[in-house]
This record gives sequence, C-alpha cells and structure tokens, in this order.
Amino acid sequence: MMLELDPATLRVALVAVLATTLLLFYAVTYRITRAPFVGHWCLALLCLGGGTMLYVLNGTPAQRWANPVGNAVVVLGLSFAVSGARTLRGLRTPSWWLGVPPLMALGASWWDDAATNVWSGAEVVLGLVGVLSWIAATTLWTDRRGGVARLQRVVGAAGALFGTYYLLRLTFFVLLGPDDELFRRLFGSVPTTLAITVLLIAITFTVAALHTEQQTLELQVRASRDGLTGLLNRQEFLRLAEVEARLLARARRPAAVVLADIDHFKQVNDRFGHDAGDQVLCTFAARSRQALRSTDLLGRYGGEEFVFLLPGASTAEAGHVMHDVRQQVAHAEADGPRVTASFGVAALEPGASVGEAIAAADAALYRAKAQGRDRVVLAEG
Ligand code: GH3
Ligand code: MG
Ligand code: MG
Repeated sequence: MMLELDPATLRVALVAVLATTLLLFYAVTYRITRAPFVGHWCLALLCLGGGTMLYVLNGTPAQRWANPVGNAVVVLGLSFAVSGARTLRGLRTPSWWLGVPPLMALGASWWDDAATNVWSGAEVVLGLVGVLSWIAATTLWTDRRGGVARLQRVVGAAGALFGTYYLLRLTFFVLLGPDDELFRRLFGSVPTTLAITVLLIAITFTVAALHTEQQTLELQVRASRDGLTGLLNRQEFLRLAEVEARLLARARRPAAVVLADIDHFKQVNDRFGHDAGDQVLCTFAARSRQALRSTDLLGRYGGEEFVFLLPGASTAEAGHVMHDVRQQVAHAEADGPRVTASFGVAALEPGASVGEAIAAADAALYRAKAQGRDRVVLAEG
C-alpha cells in the first residue's frame, strides 16, 4: 500500500521546521558571527519558508495572489543563496540582480491563470530554482582558495543536488504534465516538500559548520603565532619543540637550541621610538628565518628574545648558522637603527628536555652579554 501524505499538512510541517531552523541558526550562528554568507543564508531560509507558507493558501480565493507571490518569494530565496555563495569569494551582488529572477517568476505566474492553476508559471519557476541552485553550487565549487574548501564543496554538492532535482522536475513537468502518476510520485508536492526539508536542514548545518571551520583555522593561527613578527609564540614553539625532541631522541639525532637577544634594545626604543623598535624586531625575525632550513623551528621567546631549534645540527654547526644571522642583523638597512644581537647555543641532548637545553643556552647567552655582546657563545661541555 502506498503511503498517502497530505501536501498541505506536509507544507505546514516544512514551514515549522524551517522557522525553527532559521531561529536557531540566527540566534546561535548569525548573532555571534555576523558573517555575510550566514546572513544571506538566513534570508534564503526566510524566503523559502515564507514562500512555501503562501502555497498553503492554494485552493482558497487568495490563491490568485498567494501562488504568484509564493513563487516569487521562493525564487528570491534562491537569489539569496547565490549572493551568499558569492560573499564567500568576496564578491558583491548588485540588488537589481537579486530582484530580476523573482520578478520573472512573479510575471510568469501572474499571467498563467494563477487564480485556478496551482502550477501557474511552473516552467519558469522550476527552471529558475534549478538554474540558481546550480549557479550557487558552481560558485562554491570553483572557489580556488585553500583552507576551507572541503565543507564548502559539501554545501556546493547539496546545492547541485537540489538544482538537478528541480531541472528534472521541470523536464518531467513539460513531458508528462502535473497530473501524470509518475510525475506526482517523483516530483509532486509531497516528494518535493520532503526533499526540500532534508536538503535545507543539511545545508543549514553545513553552513554553520563552515563558519566554525573558518573561525577555528583563524583562531589556530592567532593562538600559535606572535602578532608582531608572525613567528611561533613561546607556547607553540615549546609544544612543537617537545614533539620534535621526542622524534630526535628516538632517531638518536643531535639538535641544537639557541637563545638570541637584541643588544641594548631599550636604547633603540628610547632613541628612535617604539615603532622603530617594532620594526627592528620584524627585521630580526625575517633575517633569521632566511638563514634557517624549513625543518628548523623559530619562535619569539619574549620581548626582544628569540629561540631556535635546529634538528640534526651540532652546537658547532648551529654556531655557524648563528654567525650568519648575527652578520645579517648587524648589516641592517642604512636608514634604520643599527642593532646587534647576542646568541647562546646549547646542545639538545637525546632524552633531555627542551627546558634544560634552553637553560643551558640562556647561560651561554649571559656569557655572550658579559663578554661584550654582538657575538655567538657555545655552551660548555
Ligand atoms: P641587553 O643588551 O642587556 O639585552 O639590553 P636590552 O636593553 O636589550 O635589555 P632589556 O631587557 O633591559 O630591555 C628590553 C626592552 O625591550 C625593554 C622593552 O621595553 C622592550 N620591548 C619588549 N617587547 C617589545 C616590543 O614588542 N616592541 C618594542 N618596541 N619594544 C619591546
Ligand atoms: Mg632581554
Ligand atoms: Mg636585549
């Protein structure tokens, strides 16, 4: 026996589900994030729910206006889906562009016996929904930035599915007509309402997750980097260095730890100003990075102190690298303040902690300062 579902009841259920989803999505995701694409998706949900609600008036005298307006509002929802997808790529959509598809749907529906024909303007409406869904989907799919692409592709796939369903609906509508049994089973109001419910909830959840994913990536970068120089911050350096130290101990490879401190940095600030001091820190960071291999770690340890981990390097080899850095730093640009730096180098013994190696490097750095600064000193032993 075929389960008979009543389209009107189902539509009311869809509207209730959409209203709840929209409310939660607005309260939980949009109010906190204020992300443009989340806002556009709120408007899309509002239109899809509002338009569907108007279809409930089919069969009443209000159908004359409710059917065309419902069609226009649903198509407007799809316009918002497209503009939302475009905001993810940093593109703005002119408002006249948003308005054209709904006006087309309204016109086609209005002049197609809307008072008596529940399928008024169906060819135009189904076609617009299908095409706009596909435009939104391809906008998401062809975004070439890295990082957030995966979930974006999931939303794009859901949009493409939605669009394909509507284009098939259009094809079968044209070929068979709305009263055909096969059309009613596959593409009538009941299966469509069910399909819309499932897809809209799936898309809404993914859009929320998409934003969380973007934010998590941003926060990870912010939590692990120093805001001024872009180097690893102290905590992240220590965390990565501990991981590296375990790998090195297992492979019985040597490694060196270096602490560097800019000489008389307080005077740089006092004489040239805090901004010039900041510039010196950035230059130091850039010069040091240039001298390192991609496997070396470099972090900002504190104010004008920097910490290095050179896997595979003996203290002597690390000392050579630091001589290079020292010379690079000393030959700064002619217009900037002239600065020098002191370096303490220590071995990271297999099985020893990074903290112990840093303490040894700090002792060597202290001696470098005491011996007159602008030099590299290797730890004893
Ligand atoms: P020494 O040669 O013995 O290392 O002398 P110093 O002046 O470099 O050392 P000291 O520790 O006395 O001064 C460090 C200065 O670094 C003090 C502080 O104001 C400055 N500083 C710390 N963080 C920053 C920063 O982010 N920007 C700037 N411009 N200055 C900073
Ligand atoms: Mg210092
Ligand atoms: Mg200093």
